[in-house]
Amino acid sequence: MKNLSKQFSGYTLSQFKKNAKIINFSPGPSQIPTPVLEEIKNNIFSQESIYPYGITPFEISHRSPEFSKILDNTNNNIKNFMKIPDDFSILWTQGGGHGQFSAIPLNLLDPNINSKKGNYLVTGTWSDRAFKEASKFAKVYNSYENINKELIPLQYKDILEDPAINDDEYIYLCSNETVNGIEFRKDGLQYPSREQLKGAKLVVDMSSDFCMKNIDWNNIDVAFACTSKNLGIAGANVTIIRKELLNDKNKNIPSILNWNLYHNTNSGYNTPAIFNIYIIDIILKYYIEIGGIDEIEKMSKKKSEIIYNTLDKSRLFSPVVNNKKIRSNINIPFIVGNGDNEIKSQFLDYCHQNNIVGLRTMTPFKYEDFNMVEPLRISLYNGISVEETEKFVQILNNFENMVNNELHL
Ligand code: PMP
Repeated sequence: MKNLSKQFSGYTLSQFKKNAKIINFSPGPSQIPTPVLEEIKNNIFSQESIYPYGITPFEISHRSPEFSKILDNTNNNIKNFMKIPDDFSILWTQGGGHGQFSAIPLNLLDPNINSKKGNYLVTGTWSDRAFKEASKFAKVYNSYENINKELIPLQYKDILEDPAINDDEYIYLCSNETVNGIEFRKDGLQYPSREQLKGAKLVVDMSSDFCMKNIDWNNIDVAFACTSKNLGIAGANVTIIRKELLNDKNKNIPSILNWNLYHNTNSGYNTPAIFNIYIIDIILKYYIEIGGIDEIEKMSKKKSEIIYNTLDKSRLFSPVVNNKKIRSNINIPFIVGNGDNEIKSQFLDYCHQNNIVGLRTMTPFKYEDFNMVEPLRISLYNGISVEETEKFVQILNNFENMVNNELHL
C-alpha cells in the first residue's frame, strides 16, 4: 500500500492512462453516453452533417426553422419518453435547478393572491437549499426539521397527518437527494398521494433522478430537473407544470422566472440555451433507441443492486444510508474503512490508477450538518453502463483484498 500514498486532490485528467477510457462516476456534471458524444462530434465536424453550411448548431438563431425543429423534437421526445400527459406544459429555462428554487415560491405563493404556505420536506442538502431560497420571498416552513434520516418513512407519514398541512399551498420535496443519497421511489418511500396532500400541490425537484424511472404524473403538479445529470450539460433546466397552474395574475415576478411567460412564448422569451437543448435532443433520441424509460429503469436498478450487493457484504466499505426503503439507486455515498483520510486517499489513488474518477467532489455542503463524516460517493446516471458498474465493483474487491493481505486478515 505504501506506493499508493499520493494525496488524492489535485489530479489533472492528463495524468490518466491514455489507452483506456476514464470512467466518470461524478454526481454532476456527469458522464454523457459515448454514442451521444459521437453523434455530436459527427454533426459538428462531418461533411455529411445536417448542418452542411459551415454553421454549427450553436451558432444558429433560436428563431430559425432549424432550431424550432430541434425544440419541437425535444418537446415531443421528452413527452413520449417520460409519458407526460397533455395537461402539462414543458418549459426550458436557464439558471439550472437554482433558478427554480426561486421561481417556485414566486409563482405559487404571491402574497397578493393567496395566504397559504409552502411546506418543505427537507431531507438533505438540496431541499435545504431550496427551502432557504424560498424563505427569502415567501411564507414557507420546514416540516422536517431535526429529522433522523433512518426514520424518514415514519416521520414523513406523521407529517402528512398533521392538520397544519391544510394551510399548505404546496408540499415540496427533492425526489433524489444527490449528496445524501436518499430517494423517493415507488418500491420504497413514495410521493404523497392526493389524499395525503389534502389539496396541497406537489412540487418535486427531480434533478438527479429524472429520465431514470417512470413517474406517476397523477400526483404531481410541478416537477423540475437541472440538465447536468441525465440531460447533458449544466446550465439549463426543464420545468413540467400543470397548465391549470399557469395564469397571468403574478405580474411582479422577474420575467426570467415567470412560468406563464415561458409557457406563452414556447420557452423563447429570452434566447434559450440552444446548445443544451441541441444535446438534450440527441440524448433523448438515444434513450428512446436503447429501449425507453422502462429499459432504463431496469438498468438503473441493476446497477444499484450491483453496488449495494458489494457494499452490504464488504468488511471494508459500507453504505452511508442503510435503510433500504430510502436509500438511493442513483447516488450512493459510502465510507472506506473507518472513514479517515488516509485510507480514503489510498482508495482514491487506486481508483485513479485504474482510470476511475468522480468519487470525491468538493461539495459546498457541510456533512456535519447532516451528521455525516465526509463519505465518497458513486453516481450511477444513465451515462454509466452496467459493465462500468461491474468494473467499479472489481476495483472495490481488489482494494479490499489488498488491504486484507496487508493486514494479514
Ligand atoms: N437539485 C438537485 C437535486 C441537484 O442535485 C442539483 C445540482 N447538483 C440542483 C438542484 C442544482 O442544480 P444547478 O446546479 O443546475 O442549479
